[in-house]
Amino acid sequence: MNLSGEKRHLAFKALPHELFNKGGKVYGYAVMSGDACQLSDEHCTVLSHIPSGYILLEDIRQCTAAVVESTELLDILKDLSDTGFIKPFDKHSRPISSINIFLSTYCNLNCAYCYGGAGRSDNMPGGSYGMEQEQLSSEMGRKAVDYLLKTSGIRQGGSAGGINFFGGEPLMNMEVLKDIAEYAEEQARKYGTPIPSFSITTNGLLVDETFINLCKQHHIGVQISFDGTPDAQNTMRPTTSGQASYPALEKAIRLIRENGIRIRIRATVSNRNLALIESIQHLESLDVYDVHFAVASGHDLDRFALTDKDFETLESAFDDVGSYTVERVRAGKPFVRCNNLLSAMAQLHGQKNKNYACGAGLGLASLSPDGSFHICHRFAGMNNFEIGHIDRGIDYRKRLKLIEQMHSDTHKECRECWAKDLCGGECHYSNYEANQCISVPSRQMCDLHKSILKTAMVMASEIRQHDERTYFRMLNNSM
Ligand code: SF4
Ligand code: SF4
Repeated sequence: MNLSGEKRHLAFKALPHELFNKGGKVYGYAVMSGDACQLSDEHCTVLSHIPSGYILLEDIRQCTAAVVESTELLDILKDLSDTGFIKPFDKHSRPISSINIFLSTYCNLNCAYCYGGAGRSDNMPGGSYGMEQEQLSSEMGRKAVDYLLKTSGIRQGGSAGGINFFGGEPLMNMEVLKDIAEYAEEQARKYGTPIPSFSITTNGLLVDETFINLCKQHHIGVQISFDGTPDAQNTMRPTTSGQASYPALEKAIRLIRENGIRIRIRATVSNRNLALIESIQHLESLDVYDVHFAVASGHDLDRFALTDKDFETLESAFDDVGSYTVERVRAGKPFVRCNNLLSAMAQLHGQKNKNYACGAGLGLASLSPDGSFHICHRFAGMNNFEIGHIDRGIDYRKRLKLIEQMHSDTHKECRECWAKDLCGGECHYSNYEANQCISVPSRQMCDLHKSILKTAMVMASEIRQHDERTYFRMLNNSM
């Protein structure tokens, strides 16, 4: 057991065991390791204060202070851990190395499914996520940079971490974006460290030459929210004055591409754009070759939400995209990379034993304009999922509890599912939205995810048969 690092934040949970008395001595049997041994009074006291759910070391120390010297405690915990009576855990104390910064909760679109719509009223397009609507200040942005550089361990030789600019519409606060990027680079130069990576998720409508220059200067990766076809875009993502948004978006996408900047499209799937192949074909016409599809969820979906039948249609639509990809690869033609399928292929190939759906709350957190941290942007404004504040630091106790609930072993459905090690338990927000609990997956999303994995298996098999080298280049994102 490694007890180094910030020991105070270590956590432990008891594993199944049996304690018994023989000849006036206490013995213990650790079920999972099969170890049996005699235990001292101090070992028994410590063990009795460790529940089957995780508890922080500082809390164990408080409970046992009357009986066990603080200096002895770590040795006792090490003994109990080495023999399999308890299990240590430290994921909740890992540095946050990736921050989604809410540059603005204001927006210039009025999307039907805006998931920030918790506090929305008619004159508050974009949605406030239940927070005060506001824009991030430069001061808060600089604090985020300092926090990231400090916690991601960069000054100790660790990674520089990453910043994703998010909203609302982040380009409604372009000045602060520029300030954050410049400040981060200045700090990196000052400390002789790598610069954090930058990315942005934008609706594209405010893209102009200034933004293009910022992207080039600061190497900002661009993800555009666009629903794949003009019809879906105009219906689902009208401007705040109710106008069609596609004409302006098309101009923006063409401007970005003419400047040689690669983009990924994030297409929200509603019942308006279930034929994914149409979106793929349209993206080709815009010279865009990377897309991720996400099922619509959120504010005002009644007319557009997917029914069970629509989910079946969507499964076939992913099959169509799989066939299109294989055909293109066989013909040696360029193809639009569907991230859902290609990341599933990569997962199948080498990244098994996935215990968490994503990095939310682990290495990733979102930062709201008021300085609060949440496990990810989808949970912004929700107190139960706030894990700290930029001025006060991380609440390790709360983060630990959430990370425990996010582990797929705590999901009853996942324990019995063949896809567990590939899936990790599904997006915590989808789970929460479907079942008001992050540990209970959405049945519809599970079925879709498993179908996507099967499509990816077929693709992998066919592409490997065709040409092994091409298969590996696809996995490495180099074609
Ligand atoms: S598909 Fe559903 S049940 Fe299976 S591992 Fe994923 S979330 Fe769990
Ligand atoms: S919880 Fe869902 S929305 Fe949040 S980072 Fe994970 S996958 Fe993305």
